[in-house]
Amino acid sequence: DPTKKNYHPIRDAFWNHNQPTPYRALTKTLLCIEEVSARLKIIEILSNYFRSVIVVSPKDLLPSVYLCLNKVCPDYIGLELGIAETTLLKAIVQTTGRSMAQVKSDVKKTGDLGIVAEKSKSNQKTMFKPARLTVKSVFDKLKEISEMTGHAVTVKKLDKIQSMFIACQDSEARFLMRSLAGKLRIGLAEQSVLQALGLACTMTPPPQNFPPEILNAAKKMSEEKFKKTYDGNTLIIKTTYCESPNLDIIIPIILEVGVSALPENCKLTPGIPLKPMLAHPTKGVHEVLSRFDGLKFTCEWKYDGERAQIHLTEDGNICIYSRNQENNTSKYPDIINRLDSTKGPNVKSFVMDSEAVAWDRENKKIMPFQILSTRKRKNANEADIKVQVCVYMFDLLYLNGESLVKRPFCERRQLLRENFIEVEEQFLLATSLDTTKMEEVQDFLEESIKGNCEGLMVKTLEEEATYEIAKRSRNWLKLKKDYLDGVGDTIDVVVLGGYLGRGKRTGTYGGFLLACYDPDSEEYQSICKIGTGFSDEDLQTHTEFFQQHIIDGPKSYYRYDQSHEPDHWFETAQVWEIKCADLSLSPVHRAALGIVDPEKGISLRFPRFLRIREDKSIEQSTSAQQIAELYYSQVQIINQGSTNTNRE
Ligand code: ATP
Repeated sequence: DPTKKNYHPIRDAFWNHNQPTPYRALTKTLLCIEEVSARLKIIEILSNYFRSVIVVSPKDLLPSVYLCLNKVCPDYIGLELGIAETTLLKAIVQTTGRSMAQVKSDVKKTGDLGIVAEKSKSNQKTMFKPARLTVKSVFDKLKEISEMTGHAVTVKKLDKIQSMFIACQDSEARFLMRSLAGKLRIGLAEQSVLQALGLACTMTPPPQNFPPEILNAAKKMSEEKFKKTYDGNTLIIKTTYCESPNLDIIIPIILEVGVSALPENCKLTPGIPLKPMLAHPTKGVHEVLSRFDGLKFTCEWKYDGERAQIHLTEDGNICIYSRNQENNTSKYPDIINRLDSTKGPNVKSFVMDSEAVAWDRENKKIMPFQILSTRKRKNANEADIKVQVCVYMFDLLYLNGESLVKRPFCERRQLLRENFIEVEEQFLLATSLDTTKMEEVQDFLEESIKGNCEGLMVKTLEEEATYEIAKRSRNWLKLKKDYLDGVGDTIDVVVLGGYLGRGKRTGTYGGFLLACYDPDSEEYQSICKIGTGFSDEDLQTHTEFFQQHIIDGPKSYYRYDQSHEPDHWFETAQVWEIKCADLSLSPVHRAALGIVDPEKGISLRFPRFLRIREDKSIEQSTSAQQIAELYYSQVQIINQGSTNTNRE
């Protein structure tokens, strides 16, 4: 029983040694996780499962971790499951003999294809028992399915799905269907999976061929030592995953050499996207100057396009990745074909950070993000491209076999300037100004806005100026023009539910319940209701989209007040960027509850919809901590304002 505190991987292993891990072992674990909401308990349960795998069938650790993350390969390879619901319904109907009408009506009632699949199977009598599924066999088949293309692909996929579904017993059907649909729906975030791996490797450390006492190594450690080792292991795993998010490389190293070998063996590599450095919002030049007091810094225009992490590998492969490590290479054949014109003669391999921006050739000016988003997302043909882009280069993270992330920005920038040539309308260095004068920063900000940018990015140059992978760092501050009229930044929220429209809006949703995400508790905390900023078309599109994501009730990890219960609850499926006038303490909303006030959350006043954030995953929406910080910085500004007034 993996939920028990004194779980022992060998004594409690649910299968025999050297046997492939049964899929049931994993689905039982997922079932246990579905029933609890405390994050630490979830991590403990999952780590117990991983420990068993490490001991008994280490080869199954990789597919196990992938299945928990609901992935079949690293994100940047771009293989996804997300099989259409109609195909999954067909699989259930054809294997259980139930009618489509019955199955559809059950799905409507429960809102969960997984549960319906499990129930449909449990009522079915089978003549013979097919071979049990194993973690490896399921993972391999899922991967094959996601790789299938070409003629009659749906039929072929259906065949494979059915062959697995027939062999499912109990909760296996539930999780298999959910994996195929692309969502496990148990609130198991990536960070928890990595932490569970850290805990497992501390309790039951690989490498294998262990003497039995090593299994109890953790038991012999003092509490303090244990905590230190656990924190250390988790940090190494998480950091490595940010620098080189490829489990196909990470897990074998953990198993063969141990966690401590990761930093040496798994480094930034061209071809593998790293998680980008992010910026902190600020509310004005004043705040920037006081934060960077005594430090050298530079201001750069903040371009409103799409982040482009451009990689050139030693063997000449070029890849372009998004902010989210999605592979955008086939979206930008134009950038790729022109790369030689900017790359200096000595450059053999590199990783560059840049922003791809829509460019109006006729009027020679930057165009807004909305224009860029009309470009074809995949497999673009250069001849058909209508929206031209200019790449604004702002950082260099790797050059000719050497990682530069630990070097200060002034050196990285120098290398960027020396090794890349500016080509008009194609590759330009981000416009920058090194100054510490308040008036100059202010003027530069105004200029950037006139130049169709969002504002400035202000970056430290020498001290505290390394590239902080995956971090929202204090070394980068963003200064958006929005600060002039309200909160210092826009906010990215998750849509939890919809309120049915009335009057003119009958037939669509008229409003939505929004939430921020708290990665510590893995909860979605309500932050406001929104009904403004939508065109009629927007409402129609949102309604069609969210009707595909209705669930029968709120998830255990949604935090909200009864008084704001929406007409329909949604699974977390989309991130919206919104703007608001200010943030205030709220007795009903739950955002950042306990951070700013023990009983009150924070809500947004006068929220307006701006756009869908296709480039952000749900877990990358604005966090509870960030909401608290925005609230504090606003309070600070108000206080500063009032002190000034007092002085006057
Ligand atoms: P988040 O809201 O999570 O911080 P975001 O995607 O909304 O992220 P911002 O924080 O507003 O983005 O700004 C950071 C983004 O600005 C970068 O991801 C990059 O795409 C873009 N950008 C434009 N110009 C620059 C620049 N000169 N330096 C760094 N980033 C820039």
